[in-house]
Amino acid sequence: FWTHVPQGPPDAILGITEAFKKDSHPQKINLGVGAYRDDKGKPYVLPSVRTAEQKIVQENMDKEYAGITGVPDFTKAAAVLAYGKDSAPLKEGRIAITQTISGTGALRIGGAFLQRFYPNAKAIYIPTPSWANHKAVFLDSGLEVKQYKYYNKDTIGLDFDGMLADIKAMPKGSMVLLHACAHNPTGIDPTEEQWKAISDAMKEGGHFPFFDMAYQGFASGDTDKDAFALRYFLKEGHQPCLAQSFAKNMGLYGERVGAFSIVTSSPEEKAKVDSQIKILVRPLYSNPPVHGARIASKILNDPALNKQWLGEVKEMADRIITMRALLKENLEKLGSKRDWSHITSQIGMFAYTGLGKEEMERLAQECSVYATKDGRISVAGITSGNVERLASSIFKITG
Ligand code: PMP
Repeated sequence: FWTHVPQGPPDAILGITEAFKKDSHPQKINLGVGAYRDDKGKPYVLPSVRTAEQKIVQENMDKEYAGITGVPDFTKAAAVLAYGKDSAPLKEGRIAITQTISGTGALRIGGAFLQRFYPNAKAIYIPTPSWANHKAVFLDSGLEVKQYKYYNKDTIGLDFDGMLADIKAMPKGSMVLLHACAHNPTGIDPTEEQWKAISDAMKEGGHFPFFDMAYQGFASGDTDKDAFALRYFLKEGHQPCLAQSFAKNMGLYGERVGAFSIVTSSPEEKAKVDSQIKILVRPLYSNPPVHGARIASKILNDPALNKQWLGEVKEMADRIITMRALLKENLEKLGSKRDWSHITSQIGMFAYTGLGKEEMERLAQECSVYATKDGRISVAGITSGNVERLASSIFKITG
């Protein structure tokens, strides 16, 4: 039956993990995967997550279906975390929200909803570059995918003028995907002033913002600060939709906890949108899994656990910020002539080093340092034990 099926290319990031595993160098470094590691380079389960899990086990809960839109205590709290407890549309009952299979599932449900209901839905615009999966998710949702300028390789910074010009040139009422914070892969976010100009340009064009917030709290260590762009857009009268992930900020990667929400004009409109989201979800996976959502719900709703969690998020963000500083410091100490200031001005899990494809290949072959060919390194994989070796490897390649 399947002789005609062509061999597909391997996933770029999983390919790196394979090459890393095969390497026998005792001090090899893997900076490919986007998962947090502690300072010993080990996967990290947040203590607040462990406590929440114990509480859930003690409560002897049943395993019934949560319902199509998931665990209500979870989605309610997820909306508060994103939009803020004083958010007007939230208080007015105008936000439709559904639990999803992590952030990817949220993007996919969002894509499917827009494909079905956005007036004259055609293309969604994503930044250049963007998280590699965005294009595939939206194409598979039946949308066309176009791009807007984002990264300026000469400054290793934001191409703000190019981004604004592209937004202004889009057809009226275009759908635009925006990374809410900690842009992946570049780690470059607009400043608050730049977000204001982006909001104005979006409003002028009557464009529709789709926020992807996979790193709330992970960028600055402060969940409110990281929600600035989303909340500012709301204040300005936009009615965005939002994909949330709890993979990074709660370390719940494999539990697949996320949410998709849309800000509507009225509780009546919300009810209609809700009903259609249910119709979309039902034939896809019927109901989302409960365990991870219960963990997140406990952490968000129990005041003591919530406080503990916010502290742990800050610790993770701070460790990443420290590793950025150490990497830059070590490169400078070695006498590198390159300007590495972008390493510390960028934010979140990833740093866009500015290294090219050949340099990344040499880094792997000559130094056993593995990361994606676009020059992105996962700062979460840097530790106080490997940062010096990493810096001297980068120095060796870049001179
Ligand atoms: N959006 C962005 C920008 C991401 O970086 C990620 C995770 N790599 C996601 C969404 C979704 O991840 P998950 O499905 O694991 O929540």
